[in-house]
Amino acid sequence: MRPFELTAPATVDAALASPGAFLAGGTTLVDLMKLDVLTPRHVLDINRLPLRGIDSTDGLRIGALERMSDVAQHAGVYPMISRALLLSASQQLRNMASMGGNLLQRTRCTYFRDIAMPCNKREPGSGCPALSGANRMHAILGTSESCVATHASDVAVALVALDARLELVGENGSRTVALTDFYRPPGDTPEVENDLRPGELIAEIVVPRLDWAWNSTYVKVRDRQSYEFALCSAAVALDVQDSRIVDARVAVGGVATVPWRLTGVEAALRGAPATPETFEVAASAAADGARPLAENGFKTSLVKRTVIRALHELTEGSH
Ligand SMILES: Cc1cc2nc3c(=O)[nH]c(=O)nc-3n(C[C@H](O)[C@H](O)[C@H](O)COP(=O)(O)OP(=O)(O)OC[C@H]3O[C@@H](n4cnc5c(N)ncnc54)[C@H](O)[C@@H]3O)c2cc1C
Ligand code: SF4
Repeated sequence: MRPFELTAPATVDAALASPGAFLAGGTTLVDLMKLDVLTPRHVLDINRLPLRGIDSTDGLRIGALERMSDVAQHAGVYPMISRALLLSASQQLRNMASMGGNLLQRTRCTYFRDIAMPCNKREPGSGCPALSGANRMHAILGTSESCVATHASDVAVALVALDARLELVGENGSRTVALTDFYRPPGDTPEVENDLRPGELIAEIVVPRLDWAWNSTYVKVRDRQSYEFALCSAAVALDVQDSRIVDARVAVGGVATVPWRLTGVEAALRGAPATPETFEVAASAAADGARPLAENGFKTSLVKRTVIRALHELTEGSH
């Protein structure tokens, strides 16, 4: 790790006035500094800033510095959010890690984390060894010739399904961005992962009220049952009335370069009977546009099976 200066601003204005890397829980930033993947000269500990609080009076407002474990346990949080959080990392990490930091965590692509290897995301133009190398964990959706890394956050998948937005604050004021627009697929510039401007802070995560999202879940398939990133995951909410699907939200993770909303699957579910046949037909579109690599072709069928499993979980006993 390289030497760095550490300060802890007490106000948002003071934090915005000093260039440097923001430190929340540190569970991504410090890891990557130890590996020399990130080498900030100045680190700003933002934990004294007033970016806290969970308000569930009308939808949800979650301060960016709220810890994953506190959000997971909050009674006003939709099940798909709390399940996504509880299936992330470990209890110790969830106690440290913040919601804002979770949304900004970096990919787990092993080449990205190894500075001895080329990587377009870390060093633009150097190449992407994952295209022809170890790519079992990599993405099949939203990929480019420059980068095929998956987005690692679980809770971002649930938040995208729920049309969440971010309140951002920067030197020029505040702005709101839909989470789906916030994340950028790699294209020709995999080093640009999101819409955050230099020096800008995530202040708050806002989830619009959606009463039927109380019937929601998050299914995560991984190589071992705890402390592991997703091979594939599905965040699903269903509004079922009289055995018919009135509305649906579906997003998947572990298979795409950004949290991936499946609007085609949602459209196929809407208005259909809540039956296993409907689920099979609707989920058949889950991997549309997929570009599998040598080692991750299994994800094209896994993504369909994961969506179907989540749909069954939400309708168990009703068919
Ligand atoms: C072993 C291990 C297993 C894990 N497993 C999972 C998993 O299964 N699922 C999952 O989703 N995650 C997993 N994670 C990732 C973990 O959830 C993230 O590291 C954590 O959420 C990051 O939050 P943090 O507060 O520690 O962020 P930090 O490390 O403090 O910051 C991360 C990044 O966000 C920036 N940042 C932080 N807060 C703000 C803010 N408010 N505004 C602007 N920038 C900000 C920092 O500058 C930094 O670039 C795992 C991590 C580890 C180490
Ligand atoms: S997949 Fe992306 S992060 Fe991984 S080596 Fe290629 S460019 Fe780097």
